[in-house]
Amino acid sequence: MDKKILIVGPCAAESYEQLADTAKALREVLCSLPSAQFEHVLRAGLWKPRSSPSTFQGIGAEGLPWLVEAAAIAGSPAATEVAQPEHLTAAYEAGIRHFWIGARTTSNPFMVEALADTPIADKQEIVWYIKNPTSPDIDLWVGAVERLRRAGYRQLRAIHRGFAMGEHTTSIYRNAPLWSVAIEFKRRYADIPLLTDASHIAGQAERVAEIAEQAMRMGMDGLMIEVHSHPDKALSDARQQLTPEAFAQLMLRLTAVDISAHDGDSTELASLRQQIDETDDELWALLSKRMNISQQIGKYKREHNMPVLQRTRYNELLRRRMQWAEQHGIDPEAAKQIMDIIHEQSVLRQV
Ligand code: PEP
Ligand code: MN
Repeated sequence: MDKKILIVGPCAAESYEQLADTAKALREVLCSLPSAQFEHVLRAGLWKPRSSPSTFQGIGAEGLPWLVEAAAIAGSPAATEVAQPEHLTAAYEAGIRHFWIGARTTSNPFMVEALADTPIADKQEIVWYIKNPTSPDIDLWVGAVERLRRAGYRQLRAIHRGFAMGEHTTSIYRNAPLWSVAIEFKRRYADIPLLTDASHIAGQAERVAEIAEQAMRMGMDGLMIEVHSHPDKALSDARQQLTPEAFAQLMLRLTAVDISAHDGDSTELASLRQQIDETDDELWALLSKRMNISQQIGKYKREHNMPVLQRTRYNELLRRRMQWAEQHGIDPEAAKQIMDIIHEQSVLRQV
Protein backbone atom coordinates (compact mmCIF):
# COMPACT_ATOMS: atom_id res chain seq x y z
CA MET A 1 0.00 0.00 0.00
CA ASP A 2 1.31 3.44 -0.91
CA LYS A 3 1.91 5.87 1.91
CA LYS A 4 -0.86 8.33 2.70
CA ILE A 5 0.21 11.93 2.17
CA LEU A 6 -0.60 14.43 4.93
CA ILE A 7 -0.29 18.15 4.30
CA VAL A 8 -0.77 19.91 7.61
CA GLY A 9 -0.18 23.37 8.98
CA PRO A 10 -1.85 26.73 9.28
CA CYS A 11 -3.96 28.35 6.63
CA ALA A 12 -1.51 31.24 6.54
CA ALA A 13 1.93 32.12 7.83
CA GLU A 14 1.33 34.98 10.27
CA SER A 15 4.53 35.33 12.29
CA TYR A 16 7.67 33.32 12.97
CA GLU A 17 6.38 32.40 16.45
CA GLN A 18 3.04 31.18 15.17
CA LEU A 19 4.72 28.95 12.57
CA ALA A 20 7.39 27.66 14.91
CA ASP A 21 4.87 26.91 17.70
CA THR A 22 2.59 25.07 15.30
CA ALA A 23 5.53 23.15 13.84
CA LYS A 24 6.79 22.10 17.28
CA ALA A 25 3.38 20.80 18.29
CA LEU A 26 2.93 19.05 14.95
CA ARG A 27 6.33 17.39 15.13
CA GLU A 28 5.20 15.35 18.11
CA VAL A 29 2.08 14.11 16.38
CA LEU A 30 3.77 13.48 13.03
CA CYS A 31 6.70 11.62 14.59
CA SER A 32 4.30 9.29 16.38
CA LEU A 33 2.70 8.18 13.10
CA PRO A 34 3.95 4.95 11.53
CA SER A 35 6.42 6.16 8.89
CA ALA A 36 5.62 3.21 6.64
CA GLN A 37 2.04 4.47 6.37
CA PHE A 38 2.35 8.24 6.16
CA GLU A 39 4.49 10.92 4.61
CA HIS A 40 3.98 14.50 5.72
CA VAL A 41 4.42 18.03 4.47
CA LEU A 42 4.13 21.31 6.43
CA ARG A 43 1.84 23.83 4.79
CA ALA A 44 1.41 27.59 5.25
CA GLY A 45 0.02 30.09 2.78
CA LEU A 46 2.23 33.14 2.20
CA TRP A 47 0.18 34.70 -0.58
CA LYS A 48 -3.49 34.31 0.25
CA PRO A 49 -6.11 34.50 -2.50
CA ARG A 50 -8.89 36.05 -0.40
CA SER A 51 -12.29 36.91 -1.80
CA SER A 52 -12.37 40.28 -0.04
CA PRO A 53 -9.50 42.80 -0.39
CA SER A 54 -10.09 44.04 3.15
CA THR A 55 -9.08 40.74 4.80
CA PHE A 56 -5.55 39.44 5.54
CA GLN A 57 -3.80 38.91 2.20
CA GLY A 58 -0.82 36.95 3.53
CA ILE A 59 2.61 37.96 4.75
CA GLY A 60 4.24 37.43 1.35
CA ALA A 61 7.93 36.72 0.72
CA GLU A 62 8.86 37.94 4.20
CA GLY A 63 7.53 34.67 5.60
CA LEU A 64 9.63 32.40 3.35
CA PRO A 65 12.51 31.92 5.82
CA TRP A 66 10.03 31.34 8.67
CA LEU A 67 8.34 28.57 6.71
CA VAL A 68 11.64 26.94 5.80
CA GLU A 69 12.70 26.98 9.45
CA ALA A 70 9.34 25.74 10.69
CA ALA A 71 9.52 22.84 8.23
CA ALA A 72 12.91 21.89 9.67
CA ILE A 73 11.36 21.95 13.16
CA ALA A 74 8.44 19.78 12.05
CA GLY A 75 10.75 17.39 10.21
CA SER A 76 8.72 17.74 7.01
CA PRO A 77 9.24 19.44 3.68
CA ALA A 78 7.54 22.84 3.33
CA ALA A 79 4.65 23.58 0.99
CA THR A 80 3.07 26.85 0.01
CA GLU A 81 0.54 28.19 -2.47
CA VAL A 82 1.77 29.92 -5.61
CA ALA A 83 -0.42 31.84 -8.00
CA GLN A 84 2.07 33.97 -9.93
CA PRO A 85 5.53 33.34 -11.41
CA GLU A 86 7.09 35.70 -8.83
CA HIS A 87 5.70 33.56 -5.98
CA LEU A 88 7.12 30.41 -7.52
CA THR A 89 10.53 31.93 -8.21
CA ALA A 90 10.86 33.42 -4.73
CA ALA A 91 9.72 30.24 -2.97
CA TYR A 92 11.93 28.02 -5.13
CA GLU A 93 14.96 30.23 -4.41
CA ALA A 94 14.18 29.99 -0.69
CA GLY A 95 14.42 26.19 -1.00
CA ILE A 96 10.75 25.23 -1.07
CA ARG A 97 9.95 22.31 -3.37
CA HIS A 98 6.26 21.53 -2.72
CA PHE A 99 3.69 23.91 -4.21
CA TRP A 100 -0.05 23.89 -4.39
CA ILE A 101 -2.18 25.70 -6.90
CA GLY A 102 -5.28 27.11 -5.22
CA ALA A 103 -8.82 26.61 -6.43
CA ARG A 104 -9.12 30.16 -7.76
CA THR A 105 -5.89 29.80 -9.73
CA THR A 106 -6.81 26.41 -11.21
CA SER A 107 -9.95 28.15 -12.48
CA ASN A 108 -7.80 30.41 -14.67
CA PRO A 109 -5.83 28.70 -17.47
CA PHE A 110 -3.75 31.86 -18.11
CA MET A 111 -2.44 31.77 -14.54
CA VAL A 112 -1.71 28.06 -14.63
CA GLU A 113 0.10 28.50 -17.94
CA ALA A 114 2.19 31.33 -16.47
CA LEU A 115 3.23 29.06 -13.57
CA ALA A 116 3.99 26.15 -15.90
CA ASP A 117 6.16 28.46 -18.04
CA THR A 118 8.17 29.92 -15.15
CA PRO A 119 11.83 28.93 -15.52
CA ILE A 120 12.89 26.44 -12.83
CA ALA A 121 16.41 24.99 -12.66
CA ASP A 122 15.40 21.42 -11.79
CA LYS A 123 11.77 20.57 -12.42
CA GLN A 124 12.18 16.99 -11.21
CA GLU A 125 12.65 18.21 -7.63
CA ILE A 126 9.26 19.85 -7.56
CA VAL A 127 6.05 18.32 -6.30
CA TRP A 128 2.88 20.03 -7.51
CA TYR A 129 -0.52 19.74 -5.83
CA ILE A 130 -3.35 20.94 -8.03
CA LYS A 131 -6.56 21.84 -6.25
CA ASN A 132 -9.87 21.47 -8.04
CA PRO A 133 -11.28 24.70 -9.49
CA THR A 134 -14.01 26.49 -7.53
CA SER A 135 -16.73 25.19 -9.86
CA PRO A 136 -17.29 21.49 -10.57
CA ASP A 137 -15.66 21.64 -14.00
CA ILE A 138 -13.45 18.59 -14.25
CA ASP A 139 -11.96 19.72 -17.56
CA LEU A 140 -10.52 22.87 -15.96
CA TRP A 141 -8.95 20.70 -13.26
CA VAL A 142 -7.57 18.22 -15.77
CA GLY A 143 -6.39 21.12 -17.95
CA ALA A 144 -4.24 22.47 -15.12
CA VAL A 145 -2.71 19.02 -14.54
CA GLU A 146 -1.95 18.68 -18.25
CA ARG A 147 -0.35 22.13 -18.47
CA LEU A 148 2.14 21.19 -15.73
CA ARG A 149 2.75 17.78 -17.24
CA ARG A 150 3.48 19.33 -20.65
CA ALA A 151 5.90 21.76 -19.02
CA GLY A 152 7.94 18.73 -17.92
CA TYR A 153 6.82 18.26 -14.32
CA ARG A 154 6.48 14.64 -13.25
CA GLN A 155 5.57 14.71 -9.55
CA LEU A 156 1.93 15.69 -9.77
CA ARG A 157 -0.71 15.29 -7.09
CA ALA A 158 -4.26 16.60 -6.95
CA ILE A 159 -6.35 17.98 -4.10
CA HIS A 160 -10.12 17.77 -3.82
CA ARG A 161 -11.27 20.82 -1.82
CA GLY A 162 -14.96 20.91 -2.67
CA PHE A 163 -16.94 23.36 -4.76
CA ALA A 164 -18.47 26.79 -4.18
CA MET A 165 -22.04 26.18 -5.27
CA GLY A 166 -23.57 29.48 -4.12
CA GLU A 167 -27.34 29.15 -3.94
CA HIS A 168 -27.35 25.80 -5.73
CA THR A 169 -26.69 23.70 -2.70
CA THR A 170 -28.11 22.69 0.62
CA SER A 171 -24.73 21.30 1.63
CA ILE A 172 -23.93 21.74 5.31
CA TYR A 173 -20.28 22.27 4.39
CA ARG A 174 -18.44 25.43 3.35
CA ASN A 175 -17.72 23.83 -0.02
CA ALA A 176 -19.98 21.09 -1.34
CA PRO A 177 -17.85 17.93 -1.59
CA LEU A 178 -19.47 16.57 -4.79
CA TRP A 179 -17.49 13.36 -4.31
CA SER A 180 -18.50 12.22 -7.79
CA VAL A 181 -16.15 14.81 -9.32
CA ALA A 182 -13.25 13.54 -7.21
CA ILE A 183 -14.11 9.94 -8.09
CA GLU A 184 -14.15 10.86 -11.79
CA PHE A 185 -10.72 12.48 -11.39
CA LYS A 186 -9.41 9.29 -9.78
CA ARG A 187 -10.93 7.21 -12.57
CA ARG A 188 -9.13 9.31 -15.20
CA TYR A 189 -5.78 9.50 -13.40
CA ALA A 190 -4.90 6.24 -11.70
CA ASP A 191 -1.27 7.44 -11.46
CA ILE A 192 -1.93 10.78 -9.71
CA PRO A 193 -2.45 10.65 -5.94
CA LEU A 194 -5.64 12.45 -4.95
CA LEU A 195 -5.79 14.11 -1.53
CA THR A 196 -8.86 15.48 0.23
CA ASP A 197 -8.69 18.96 1.74
CA ALA A 198 -11.05 18.20 4.61
CA SER A 199 -10.59 21.68 6.11
CA HIS A 200 -11.71 23.73 3.12
CA ILE A 201 -14.58 21.33 2.41
CA ALA A 202 -15.82 21.34 6.02
CA GLY A 203 -15.33 25.01 6.84
CA GLN A 204 -15.82 24.25 10.56
CA ALA A 205 -13.33 22.55 12.84
CA GLU A 206 -16.02 20.20 14.23
CA ARG A 207 -16.75 18.77 10.79
CA VAL A 208 -13.19 18.20 9.55
CA ALA A 209 -12.91 14.69 11.04
CA GLU A 210 -16.02 13.32 9.35
CA ILE A 211 -14.81 14.45 5.92
CA ALA A 212 -11.30 13.14 6.60
CA GLU A 213 -12.66 9.76 7.64
CA GLN A 214 -14.94 9.53 4.60
CA ALA A 215 -11.96 10.30 2.38
CA MET A 216 -9.81 7.60 3.96
CA ARG A 217 -12.58 5.01 3.79
CA MET A 218 -13.09 5.87 0.14
CA GLY A 219 -9.45 5.15 -0.54
CA MET A 220 -8.19 8.68 -1.17
CA ASP A 221 -4.41 9.03 -1.10
CA GLY A 222 -4.03 11.65 1.58
CA LEU A 223 -5.38 14.69 3.37
CA MET A 224 -4.81 18.41 3.65
CA ILE A 225 -5.68 19.60 7.14
CA GLU A 226 -5.32 23.13 8.49
CA VAL A 227 -3.74 23.19 11.95
CA HIS A 228 -2.92 26.36 13.90
CA SER A 229 -1.37 26.71 17.35
CA HIS A 230 -4.20 29.12 18.30
CA PRO A 231 -7.06 28.83 15.80
CA ASP A 232 -9.14 31.43 17.68
CA LYS A 233 -6.47 34.02 16.89
CA ALA A 234 -5.95 33.00 13.26
CA LEU A 235 -5.97 35.80 10.70
CA SER A 236 -7.73 33.62 8.10
CA ASP A 237 -10.03 30.60 8.20
CA ALA A 238 -10.21 30.72 12.00
CA ARG A 239 -13.42 28.63 12.10
CA GLN A 240 -11.97 25.61 10.37
CA GLN A 241 -8.43 25.28 11.72
CA LEU A 242 -7.71 22.51 14.23
CA THR A 243 -5.56 22.86 17.31
CA PRO A 244 -2.58 20.49 17.31
CA GLU A 245 -4.43 18.49 20.01
CA ALA A 246 -7.52 18.13 17.84
CA PHE A 247 -5.28 17.06 14.96
CA ALA A 248 -3.70 14.40 17.20
CA GLN A 249 -7.21 13.14 18.05
CA LEU A 250 -8.10 13.07 14.37
CA MET A 251 -5.04 10.99 13.55
CA LEU A 252 -5.93 8.54 16.34
CA ARG A 253 -9.38 8.21 14.82
CA LEU A 254 -7.93 7.69 11.33
CA THR A 255 -5.26 5.21 12.28
CA ALA A 256 -8.04 3.16 13.92
CA VAL A 257 -9.70 2.89 10.50
CA ASP A 258 -7.85 -0.13 9.18
CA ILE A 259 -8.62 0.00 5.50
CA SER A 260 -5.67 -2.18 4.56
CA ALA A 261 -7.31 -5.33 5.95
CA HIS A 262 -9.51 -5.76 2.90
CA ASP A 263 -10.57 -8.93 1.18
CA GLY A 264 -11.71 -7.95 -2.27
CA ASP A 265 -12.56 -11.50 -3.37
CA SER A 266 -14.75 -12.77 -0.57
CA THR A 267 -17.98 -14.52 -1.49
CA GLU A 268 -19.91 -12.18 0.79
CA LEU A 269 -18.71 -9.19 -1.22
CA ALA A 270 -19.38 -10.99 -4.51
CA SER A 271 -22.94 -11.68 -3.42
CA LEU A 272 -23.49 -8.05 -2.39
CA ARG A 273 -22.11 -6.88 -5.72
CA GLN A 274 -24.48 -9.24 -7.49
CA GLN A 275 -27.37 -7.67 -5.59
CA ILE A 276 -26.19 -4.18 -6.54
CA ASP A 277 -26.03 -5.14 -10.21
CA GLU A 278 -29.55 -6.55 -10.08
CA THR A 279 -30.85 -3.46 -8.26
CA ASP A 280 -29.22 -1.24 -10.90
CA ASP A 281 -31.00 -3.23 -13.61
CA GLU A 282 -34.34 -2.57 -11.89
CA LEU A 283 -33.48 1.09 -11.33
CA TRP A 284 -32.69 1.60 -15.01
CA ALA A 285 -35.80 -0.24 -16.12
CA LEU A 286 -37.80 2.17 -13.93
CA LEU A 287 -35.96 5.17 -15.34
CA SER A 288 -36.78 4.01 -18.82
CA LYS A 289 -40.44 3.59 -17.84
CA ARG A 290 -40.43 7.12 -16.38
CA MET A 291 -39.00 8.49 -19.62
CA ASN A 292 -41.73 6.84 -21.65
CA ILE A 293 -44.39 8.42 -19.44
CA SER A 294 -42.64 11.79 -19.86
CA GLN A 295 -42.89 11.38 -23.58
CA GLN A 296 -46.66 10.82 -23.34
CA ILE A 297 -46.98 13.90 -21.13
CA GLY A 298 -45.00 15.84 -23.73
CA LYS A 299 -47.43 14.72 -26.43
CA TYR A 300 -50.40 15.77 -24.29
CA LYS A 301 -48.90 19.21 -23.57
CA ARG A 302 -48.18 19.76 -27.25
CA GLU A 303 -51.72 18.82 -28.27
CA HIS A 304 -53.09 21.24 -25.65
CA ASN A 305 -50.57 24.01 -26.38
CA MET A 306 -49.15 23.86 -22.87
CA PRO A 307 -45.52 24.83 -22.04
CA VAL A 308 -43.28 21.91 -21.11
CA LEU A 309 -41.62 23.56 -18.12
CA GLN A 310 -43.94 23.87 -15.12
CA ARG A 311 -41.97 25.36 -12.35
CA THR A 312 -44.45 25.13 -9.50
CA ARG A 313 -45.06 21.46 -10.23
CA TYR A 314 -41.33 20.74 -10.31
CA ASN A 315 -40.65 22.76 -7.14
CA GLU A 316 -43.30 20.72 -5.36
CA LEU A 317 -41.90 17.44 -6.69
CA LEU A 318 -38.42 18.41 -5.61
CA ARG A 319 -39.53 19.58 -2.17
CA ARG A 320 -41.32 16.29 -1.51
CA ARG A 321 -38.43 14.20 -2.80
CA MET A 322 -35.85 16.02 -0.68
CA GLN A 323 -38.05 15.64 2.38
CA TRP A 324 -38.51 11.95 1.63
CA ALA A 325 -34.75 11.55 1.16
CA GLU A 326 -34.04 13.14 4.50
CA GLN A 327 -36.50 10.81 6.25
CA HIS A 328 -34.81 7.83 4.59
CA GLY A 329 -31.25 8.73 5.49
CA ILE A 330 -30.34 10.01 2.02
CA ASP A 331 -28.54 13.33 1.67
CA PRO A 332 -31.23 15.78 0.40
CA GLU A 333 -28.56 17.57 -1.64
CA ALA A 334 -27.75 14.32 -3.45
CA ALA A 335 -31.48 13.71 -3.96
CA LYS A 336 -31.77 17.17 -5.49
CA GLN A 337 -28.89 16.54 -7.87
CA ILE A 338 -30.40 13.24 -9.01
CA MET A 339 -33.85 14.80 -9.42
CA ASP A 340 -32.38 17.71 -11.38
CA ILE A 341 -30.79 15.35 -13.89
CA ILE A 342 -33.93 13.21 -14.20
CA HIS A 343 -36.11 16.30 -14.61
CA GLU A 344 -33.79 17.88 -17.17
CA GLN A 345 -33.81 14.69 -19.24
CA SER A 346 -37.56 14.49 -18.93
CA VAL A 347 -38.01 18.11 -20.11
CA LEU A 348 -35.69 17.44 -23.03
CA ARG A 349 -37.65 14.32 -23.96
CA GLN A 350 -40.88 16.34 -23.85
CA VAL A 351 -39.59 19.10 -26.11
C1 PEP B 1 -5.67 27.21 1.06
O1 PEP B 1 -5.37 26.01 0.98
O2 PEP B 1 -5.27 27.94 1.94
C2 PEP B 1 -6.62 27.78 0.09
C3 PEP B 1 -6.71 29.08 -0.12
O3 PEP B 1 -7.38 26.86 -0.46
P1 PEP B 1 -8.40 26.91 -1.71
O4 PEP B 1 -7.62 27.31 -2.90
O5 PEP B 1 -8.84 25.50 -1.72
O6 PEP B 1 -9.49 27.87 -1.35
MN1 MN C 1 -7.40 28.28 4.39
